[in-house]
Amino acid sequence: MFSLLPYNTFALDVHAKHGIIINALSDLHFPLSEPYIILGRGSDVLFTEDFSGTALICNIRGLEIKRVDDEYMVRVGGGEILDELIVQLLSRGICGLENLSAIPGTVGAAPIQNIGAYGVEIGDFIDSLEVCDLSCGKVFTMDKTSCQFGYRDSYFKRHPEARLLVLYVNFRFKAQPELKLSYQGLKDQDLNDAAAVREQVRALRARKLPDPRFVGNAGSFFKNPVVDAKTVARLREDYPDIPVFTASGGRFKLAAGWLIDKSGCRGITHGHAGTWEHQALVLVNRGQAKPHEIVSLAKYVSSQVAMRFGIALVPEVRLYGRGGEISWEMLQ
Ligand SMILES: Cc1cc2nc3c(=O)[nH]c(=O)nc-3n(C[C@H](O)[C@H](O)[C@H](O)COP(=O)(O)OP(=O)(O)OC[C@H]3O[C@@H](n4cnc5c(N)ncnc54)[C@H](O)[C@@H]3O)c2cc1C
Repeated sequence: MFSLLPYNTFALDVHAKHGIIINALSDLHFPLSEPYIILGRGSDVLFTEDFSGTALICNIRGLEIKRVDDEYMVRVGGGEILDELIVQLLSRGICGLENLSAIPGTVGAAPIQNIGAYGVEIGDFIDSLEVCDLSCGKVFTMDKTSCQFGYRDSYFKRHPEARLLVLYVNFRFKAQPELKLSYQGLKDQDLNDAAAVREQVRALRARKLPDPRFVGNAGSFFKNPVVDAKTVARLREDYPDIPVFTASGGRFKLAAGWLIDKSGCRGITHGHAGTWEHQALVLVNRGQAKPHEIVSLAKYVSSQVAMRFGIALVPEVRLYGRGGEISWEMLQ
């Protein structure tokens, strides 16, 4: 048995049947035995039980930086830790990712859900990805357009059947970058350079989010729901102060944390699981939680929101069961 405790930030004591730490592609022997899953540091996953197959842990390292005219081309191993990369880049005067500071996890996982924070998405800086098709071992490059980045979305998320392992991420940064300071908490601050932005982001996040080193969690558990104008009008009748943000395609994004809070679910505890006192969108392991306790809390929270607002919450975290990835519907 292979312990997944170091590979899930919910800190659940779950196991896979086997595990392979991938330091280089040569660590894999094709065809791979089924079932298998890919993991970075497990900061966006919930194991609902033990996994009966092989966990492939991406640990491919490496950082290469080239200056080409007025840009930096940066090639990074998928197993590098994103926050450590940001520190490395800033120390060389390469800016752009500082708004993503303190997001846990690896560089290779970041494009999968096109991670984002404080007005920046990783896809904004990706030039291409070097990937391996795990069904046959073939390696190829995907340009940014083929990655189909969207809000917490990408080709990889929509096509899990493609079975692509991100080996290297190629970034493109402007040598003369602009700071992105439009987001609440960054604007109206005296932030003169990227290092100051990073420190401000770290401070803001520390106030709101639990540190997975001390409190097991996987960040925002649910996605912010995207709804139509009719739904917004209906909700505003009863809740005039509901936060609403414009989304693409004439739709609107609601704040899942606000909905959960107003449903009376902020800071609650069920067994050894709970919701975070400072951000209701984060489900936490209060110590020794079992997978089923997190699952039943997630179901409870979503049912309360559905009852009060008529809105169905959908998890942002990826769910895994005995045979591999599972859908939210499969847990109902
Ligand atoms: C406290 C906290 C705060 C967070 N804040 C944010 C935030 O602000 N914004 C945000 O977007 N996310 C946030 N997250 C979620 C998470 O950190 C990101 O999704 C991160 O990119 C996951 O990285 P990981 O290495 O842990 O991936 P994992 O959780 O191990 O994997 C996530 C998914 O990516 C796949 N995957 C992993 N590595 C690879 C690879 N090399 N190739 C192909 N597929 C791969 C896995 O199969 C899985 O489906 C937060 C999480 C926590 C715990």
